[in-house]
Amino acid sequence: MKKILIANRGEIANRIIRACHELKIKTVAVYAKEDEYGVHRFKADEAYLIGAGKKPIEAYLDIDDIIHVAKMTGADAIHPGYGFLAENEEFARSCQEAGIIFIGPTVEQLHIFGDKVAAKQVATQAGLHTIPGTADPVTSLSEVSKLADQFGYPIMLKAALGGGGRGMRIVHDASELESNYNRAKSEAKQAFGSDELYVEKYLDHPKHIEVQVLADKHGHVMHLFERDCSVQRRHQKVIEFAPSITLDDQRRAEICNAAVNLMKTVNYQNAGTVEFLVTDSDFYFIEVNPRVQVEHTVTEMITDIDIVQSQIKIADGQDLYTDMELPQQNELTMHGSAIQCRITTEDPENDFLPDTGKIETYRSPGGFGVRLDGGNAYAGATVTPFFDSLLVKACVQARTFNDAVKKMKRVLEEFQIRGVKTNIGFMQKVLSHPTFISGQAHTTFIDDTKELFI
Ligand code: ADP
Repeated sequence: MKKILIANRGEIANRIIRACHELKIKTVAVYAKEDEYGVHRFKADEAYLIGAGKKPIEAYLDIDDIIHVAKMTGADAIHPGYGFLAENEEFARSCQEAGIIFIGPTVEQLHIFGDKVAAKQVATQAGLHTIPGTADPVTSLSEVSKLADQFGYPIMLKAALGGGGRGMRIVHDASELESNYNRAKSEAKQAFGSDELYVEKYLDHPKHIEVQVLADKHGHVMHLFERDCSVQRRHQKVIEFAPSITLDDQRRAEICNAAVNLMKTVNYQNAGTVEFLVTDSDFYFIEVNPRVQVEHTVTEMITDIDIVQSQIKIADGQDLYTDMELPQQNELTMHGSAIQCRITTEDPENDFLPDTGKIETYRSPGGFGVRLDGGNAYAGATVTPFFDSLLVKACVQARTFNDAVKKMKRVLEEFQIRGVKTNIGFMQKVLSHPTFISGQAHTTFIDDTKELFI
């Protein structure tokens, strides 16, 4: 591969450009009009406006324009990053038809994992435990009601095509069922274009543990251990760390092996993440994210394996072991502890509504064991309302989880950002909370902990 088009923006576009640069691969950026000052535009070797006349987000979803730029510039491959077209079958197919490598899994694999009900069925076939629930989408309220009686309340209604923590509703008891069912259906239709729902037992206080997997085109599948992404707000990840500090070695091995088995079952290719909810007694598959994830950083910090470069090499046909010279699975080790905080321009004092405006002052932290992956984070940049509110990912690595927490607190204190509100103050409260420090935070820790919001 000599040239890669990056079909994304913000921090992940910059991250991919950096990976290409190290691999001596030329880069092509595409940008929406609203991103004309976007850093990714200037970091890439070439940059082209796409989606002229369209809404900002739609520009990055403009398959025809993106393929056109790729062909015009002679790009060998397209990296979709995360979000936008990363899990879009039609896009992967269009790349294939245009003779351009899609840096990700196959169209068929995107198809399976894009539908959470289908994914659960495959996981069951691979011998993984799934959360008690429906094997097929539900078709009526009375069916849901019967299922709820069978599993016992609370239950969760989930959109089959859902993602990003959206399209989920907890139903605590029968009195809430009808209204939540109707609301979940219409929300799913609006957000994901399909009102297909499925039902799961709602697990009480689980941890969200996910396994990073790399799989080449020669049948090799390896895991890079797990991440704990339990610290969430309304089902969306806020702080992630690796490794988990509550899994024992046996449970870790079981979960990581289950992830590898699942990916082998579908002949998976490229990087992917297998997500689980973990309780004291068992661990349950929830979904596969067939792409690079926002939190891949912490895995890189404890394994020293560059996941984005690995994606590119795998897409280029390299063998994990003979070409990429990665350690065999049983020789792979991790070191220390890494934490990531997603610094966003959300205002905790205003129900986390995204703030916008010009960044007047921007001083970033640095030093030993600190990694920053920024989008358009600099003094003078304008934060627009058009895209997601992620400003910079702050990551630290240290010998122990405790040391990493201390380092992250120092990092957050060192940030000086004025002109636009951020969630840094809120993050500091989370990092100082004894439950977080103990590593015991479960998925509703933030939502249940009133003092974090005072
Ligand atoms: P998305 O694809 O939208 O991120 P997931 O299925 O990965 O959705 O779930 C996101 C989060 O929602 C999980 O990490 C967990 O906190 C919560 N969640 C999902 N399903 C359940 C469930 N059955 N019981 C309890 N919590 C759940």
